[in-house]
Amino acid sequence: MMRVFKFGGASIKDADSIRNVASIVRRYNSDQLTIIISASGKTTNAMEEVLTAYWKKQTSEMKACLDKVKKNHKQIMDDLFDTAQHAIYSEVHDIFVDLDWILEEEPQDEFDYLYDQIVSTGELLSTKIVSAYLNEIGLATTWLDVRDCIRTDNTYRDANINWQETEAAIQARVPALMAKGLVVTQGFLGGTTENFTTTLGREGSDFTAAIFSYCLDAQDMSIWKDVPGVLTADPRLFDDTELVEQLSYAEAIEMTYYGAQVIHPKTIRPLQNKKIPLYVKSFVNPEGVGTAIGAFDITEYPPMIVVKKNQALLRMVSKDFFFVDEAKFSKLFEALANRRIKVNMTQNTALAFSVCVNDVPNKINQLVADLEANYEVEKIENLKLVTIRHSSAKLFDQIVGERKIFLEEKIGSNIQLVMGKDEVL
Ligand code: ADP
Ligand code: ASP
Ligand code: MG
Repeated sequence: MMRVFKFGGASIKDADSIRNVASIVRRYNSDQLTIIISASGKTTNAMEEVLTAYWKKQTSEMKACLDKVKKNHKQIMDDLFDTAQHAIYSEVHDIFVDLDWILEEEPQDEFDYLYDQIVSTGELLSTKIVSAYLNEIGLATTWLDVRDCIRTDNTYRDANINWQETEAAIQARVPALMAKGLVVTQGFLGGTTENFTTTLGREGSDFTAAIFSYCLDAQDMSIWKDVPGVLTADPRLFDDTELVEQLSYAEAIEMTYYGAQVIHPKTIRPLQNKKIPLYVKSFVNPEGVGTAIGAFDITEYPPMIVVKKNQALLRMVSKDFFFVDEAKFSKLFEALANRRIKVNMTQNTALAFSVCVNDVPNKINQLVADLEANYEVEKIENLKLVTIRHSSAKLFDQIVGERKIFLEEKIGSNIQLVMGKDEVL
């Protein structure tokens, strides 16, 4: 069977975790596997710190952050490999040399471009180490540079996939490699036609795995997580969560779009298009049933809660006392789209249009300036959007409680509430 696996940062955070990943992979020995891997642990955050220090020309901070990343990876290698003569040490060294080349020059290019060239280091390191380890323990593995496969435009930090080129590149390379053994490649990264590195947006490795699954017509795709599967809510926020064993593609899209971090929202569509099942499984308990997402016709779901942080509410009131009608709506949405501001909920009256959006500070100020001539714009910050799917009346009452609700929408048993970010649910 041809399968695609994805392992995230938590599953490869140290040597023991990588050994655990290897033991999971070994169970699927008879399958043809492509394995997508994220950066180890919190490396992506650490690389963002390196970048910020570089951008601000704070050389000593930059070196200190980078040293931490180097140390972490050296520790992992020391724990995994018997000898410092192992070829992996020089491969990892080469990756850091490439990075040093960039960091030695003063920042001249655009921030987003530099972000992708620098932050991508995390995935290059982790995949090199994991594939060397798999080879070391007798699981023949090819390391694949994903930038030759995932072809994108040059929207740095949020690159768009060129599906035709990507499909051709994956089909030309990967099946032949899978015939020889395991294939390990990077999540999150892509490459432009000029061979610059791009990234697909934070948490994008799940999406990378879906792209490979689609292009390879995989039998199924599994993402291995630190949770038993998709739960009725984020266990970091709620105590009494339950495993949801089956979800339809549509239900999974709704949950992830509104903030269920367990799967990146872009992951579902490519799989749905080819009816490829997605399994969300636990790397802590690989025997567990996990969650299956597929073309199921499910009518009954338990109540599920999703919280999306970092929200702001914009209330735009027409200055000239004209109705906010269809023509005005389309202008307002155009203004939002031009600034790439993501709208999560809307409501309108004759003169006012309210939107709950992802709060990206600069962008919102720019939007306010764009609209100033025709609208008074009021902004409320520090909010979160709580989505309750398949709610019961009891759960609704419990979530609303005495809390101040800034915006509310109810469609059947699906409810969305905008409230202060510090409300404890
Ligand atoms: P990865 O390491 O693969 O990127 P993530 O950390 O992004 O994994 O996703 C797993 C995390 O998602 C869990 O640790 C959990 O806290 C969070 N999460 C949020 N909502 C849910 C949910 N409904 N079910 C399970 N996990 C959830
Ligand atoms: N390493 C990247 C991130 O932390 C991509 C991913 O993990 O999915 O965002
Ligand atoms: Mg993730």
